[in-house]
Amino acid sequence: PAITNHMPTAELQRLDAAHHMHPFTHGNGLSAKGARVITRADGVWLNDSEGARILDAMAGLWCVNIGYGRHELAEAAERQMRELPYYNTFFQTTHVPAIALAARLAELAPGDLNHVFYAGSGSEANDTNIRIVRQYWAEKGKPSKRKIISRKNAYHGSTMGGASLGGMAGMHAQGGLPIPDIHYIDQPNWWAEGGEMTPEAFGLERARQLEAMINELGEENVAAFIAEPVQGAGGVIVAPDSYWPEVQRICDKYEILFIADEVICGFGRTGRWFGSETLGLRPDIMTIAKGLSSGYQPIGGSLLSDEVAAVISGHEFNHGYTYSGHPVACAVALENLRILDEEKIVERVAEDTGPYLREKWEALADHPLVGEAKIVGMMASLALTPDKSARAAFASSAGTVGFVCRDRCFANNLIMRHVGDRMIISPPLVISRDEIDILIERAWKSLDQCL
Ligand code: PLP
Repeated sequence: PAITNHMPTAELQRLDAAHHMHPFTHGNGLSAKGARVITRADGVWLNDSEGARILDAMAGLWCVNIGYGRHELAEAAERQMRELPYYNTFFQTTHVPAIALAARLAELAPGDLNHVFYAGSGSEANDTNIRIVRQYWAEKGKPSKRKIISRKNAYHGSTMGGASLGGMAGMHAQGGLPIPDIHYIDQPNWWAEGGEMTPEAFGLERARQLEAMINELGEENVAAFIAEPVQGAGGVIVAPDSYWPEVQRICDKYEILFIADEVICGFGRTGRWFGSETLGLRPDIMTIAKGLSSGYQPIGGSLLSDEVAAVISGHEFNHGYTYSGHPVACAVALENLRILDEEKIVERVAEDTGPYLREKWEALADHPLVGEAKIVGMMASLALTPDKSARAAFASSAGTVGFVCRDRCFANNLIMRHVGDRMIISPPLVISRDEIDILIERAWKSLDQCL
């Protein structure tokens, strides 16, 4: 029989377990019942095959910024598929969706990030960035500048390049990672690592590790520093206020490129179009993906400053993906950007629903299990702790309480993720006040069930 939404759930789960390898999942990590089958979605709500309505407080994987079910994007895809379903821009050709999206991105991006090199995902775009920054310095007659500085517990993707730029120990432990010439400084996670320092002093200390690393490696060997404005997959780590100005000062002082990985923070997540604007950063390169198309089509890219683009354009850059600038993905992304703009969704996050969520989210810090509650725009985290005043970690193996809490949320029809013992959310930016109330109510209930 045809495999459709109408097939019994148990049979769908059996076929899934038999044939489908899930990313970032231990085979036995699927519950005995099997993976939940998501059948359709609208706004912030997912339906599963058993009729449950689940509030998706992760916007898929931090990507469905305009919410599910926007027919305009389906129509944009259909129009484009009928007119020109595919063509590339490699060999002296181009097409309207790639041009229009590039021009729109140049308008939206801060500073002189006026040029886009398209990729199919955030990981691919970060692979591109590794090649761009090294090629940039080679073109400038400084080929020794190859090393890239990143941060422990950063996430920059799952390809060999992306996962090497990332600082996730669990990923580095598999498959021969990281590739050479990537170096890591500590993350600005005051709650877990700040010890007796004030957040401000700790922020400065962590920022100055960048300077120390540049000096240790030799400025003449360092190509770039890469960072997420707010570390997402690492647990929505919001740096102390002292951190970013000091990082920017260091990037300005030394001759290195600054790559802001805006794959999560871009397109309204932090209450401005880009996290770099919220945090006062001036990157030379930005990685974009996810919210660029609200996840309706796979697309990513690297936004380059005038200077970087000019240098890279000096010779043929031997790099590109079959789906770089895919016309259907570009058309869908353009329509997504139109909706974000015309419906003033970013402004709503900044002025209305963002502050509303902040007030409710920060109140969760009153829960006995919650230490800090952090939020920027529409990305937020809770640090779970057995002892708030000592900022203690649970003694049990890392992640156990967070794992239980995540499962309680799931059972209560709320998708909230855990990273170790941090609970994180990143809801669709269109979430309403009423839906925020439901999110918070289910979060409280799930936390209570962990006591
Ligand atoms: N960079 C950041 C900051 C991310 O959060 C992600 C994905 O979560 C990536 C890069 C990788 O993007 P993709 O999964 O589209 O390859």
